[in-house]
Amino acid sequence: MFDKLLIANRGEIACRIAATAARLGIASVAVFSEADRHAKHVLACDEAVGVGPPAARESYLQGGRIIAAALESGAQAIHPGYGFLSENAAFARACQDAGLIFIGPPAAAIEAMGSKSAAKSLMEEAGVPLVPGYHGHDQDPVVLAAAADAIGYPVLIKASAGGGGKGMRIVTAPADFGAALHSCKREARAAFGDDAVLVEKYLLRPRHIEIQVFADRHGRCIYLFERDCSVQRRHQKVLEEAPAPGMTRARREAMGAAAVAAAQAVGYVGAGTVEFIVNQDESFYFMEMNTRLQVEHPVTEMITGFDLVEWQFRIAAGEALPARQDELVMHGHSLEARLYAENPERGFLPATGCLERLRFPEAVEFAVARVLAAGASRAALRIDSGIREGDSITPFYDPMIAKLIVWGKDRPEALSRMVTALGKTQIVGLHTNLAFLSRLVDCAAFRSADLDTGLIERHHAALFPAPAPVDWNSVALAAAVVLATERRDEGADPWSRRDGWRLNGRATRELRFAHGDDMCVAALRYGAQGCTLTLGGQSGSFTLGAVTQGSIEIRLGEGALEAEFEWQGTLLHLFGRDSQIVLDWLDAHPPDFEAFVEEGRLTAPMPGKVVAIMTEPGAAVERGAPLLVMEAMKMEHTITAPRAGVVAEIRFAVGEQVAEGAELLVFAAEPGTP
Ligand code: ADP
Ligand code: ADP
Ligand code: MG
Repeated sequence: MFDKLLIANRGEIACRIAATAARLGIASVAVFSEADRHAKHVLACDEAVGVGPPAARESYLQGGRIIAAALESGAQAIHPGYGFLSENAAFARACQDAGLIFIGPPAAAIEAMGSKSAAKSLMEEAGVPLVPGYHGHDQDPVVLAAAADAIGYPVLIKASAGGGGKGMRIVTAPADFGAALHSCKREARAAFGDDAVLVEKYLLRPRHIEIQVFADRHGRCIYLFERDCSVQRRHQKVLEEAPAPGMTRARREAMGAAAVAAAQAVGYVGAGTVEFIVNQDESFYFMEMNTRLQVEHPVTEMITGFDLVEWQFRIAAGEALPARQDELVMHGHSLEARLYAENPERGFLPATGCLERLRFPEAVEFAVARVLAAGASRAALRIDSGIREGDSITPFYDPMIAKLIVWGKDRPEALSRMVTALGKTQIVGLHTNLAFLSRLVDCAAFRSADLDTGLIERHHAALFPAPAPVDWNSVALAAAVVLATERRDEGADPWSRRDGWRLNGRATRELRFAHGDDMCVAALRYGAQGCTLTLGGQSGSFTLGAVTQGSIEIRLGEGALEAEFEWQGTLLHLFGRDSQIVLDWLDAHPPDFEAFVEEGRLTAPMPGKVVAIMTEPGAAVERGAPLLVMEAMKMEHTITAPRAGVVAEIRFAVGEQVAEGAELLVFAAEPGTP
């Protein structure tokens, strides 16, 4: 076995590979782009080498630079992960030429499966069933249109060199064929530099079921059961599971044998996935082979108890397969959900931004351990992520934030754990598919395993319901958070106060919150009996319980409520025990323009220039009094006094540039404080 490995990837898969290397005592070398200098995967490895600017083309796709980094660091092997160079035959060959072990199949096998058309021809010869279609060389539009007529509409046009769903076009009638072909070719040329296409019968309500195969250099090839990846958006996987619901033993053996035949037809070595499209009548057809580790490989690890990356290492080092086909056993059921920075409400458009908050449930909360084949046990929840709180999703790379993987003794148990895991995940800062995933795993069709690739579209109405009206408990919690936050900003210590809680100096107070298009007004009244909250005609007594920086407890009427919270400007994110909600506090000052006070200091909330000063040292100011004006983002923002006090010092002059977080102004210590 090699003792030093370079990981030619980033994000969660680089972290995941590094973890196996560490467990096996193999030293790991990370590569990173300028955008990833401080990324999690860099810390996960023992060493790290910069390979270029942020754009993948100039860094993670620079095979030559990556090979040089491996040689210089003394690594003997390179793991390409998935995406990037993982299916690049020239890179695999260059690794070999440099005397490095490429942890993947031989370059010739990558080449053979690299073109969907050529792969289909090979599979035809190997007797693997194919979707009816045309995958010939002749790319004359007339020939392709005639092929579509012969196949019968609807048809699917795919880029031969395709991947990631790029270029795929469904055509329902002959009249639309020409235009669809044209746009498929244009997209294929841009994405892959190759516009060859194939035409397939477009199957109605099919399932995507794939087989994990493994082959060693000693001529053996086995399959590690299947994964069902039917739940997709834009032809891309969202939820994956193993085993496939409803799979019979006979069907599994037939698909396993076909997958092994496919791998052997190209002299395969290492981990690979043979993707099949399966009709409702259970007939199955070869779609493509991915000659790499798959994003969804953890569900297979969960039900087999094997570490597939360790298997990849062993095979690449020349060892024999760690198990025989007849030794493999499946335990229980596993589900994976891909958490993406994207906006489901806007056609799953990828999103970017900073993850101001990113909290996952602890694996220990899923205490029920699963028993592995070997008798060992592991947690029933696994989070694979290359992103930490405070990191950003940029346009440079894949917008995946994390994979949540759960295990259960059966599908219902796995499903209920997934519902819990998603519900306990907290994100603030950018659009994600988190809430959508929660609805998806909980929808009737997924619960009953009525799976096919059209599930999301068909259940659109149920998956995108009109927003529920705001509940009274959430607004009560929000009102409490606002009052507590104000008192903190005033320098008072509300965090430990439970009684004598006035509405920050007032006897009545109305707080307005927006939730989608709805507006709700919480009316608070402080009387002899304490505080009362009135909302939408309902009234109840209202008392603050324990408050900390990020969580709040209140008593409302007879009940006790608690939530964690986080402000994002004026948006208040509340994380309750079984629900999450975002409310926009309408009475707030625009958040960016509000300065922050910490121990009498006033700091700039954003970078900008001081354009006016309205106070002077020694001046006594009231809360809210304008102190100075900053110009930022071509707009002027007035910085007001966050509390009453005496100005001790002004740190900047008009015209000076101010960095974010710089101290603008110092208040004199309050009488009586040290
Ligand atoms: P990619 O290289 O983008 O993964 P695939 O050929 O694997 O492309 O297809 C991606 C997805 O498109 C499949 O998982 C399936 O949902 C859908 N698909 C592919 N071929 C067909 C087909 N002939 N009929 C219906 N759906 C298909
Ligand atoms: P699978 O068929 O295994 O589900 P996908 O096609 O969803 O695979 O994933 C491969 C894609 O993952 C690549 O096309 C690329 O967009 C993306 N990708 C590549 N490297 C990474 C990474 N380190 N982290 C997240 N995504 C990546
Ligand atoms: Mg595919």
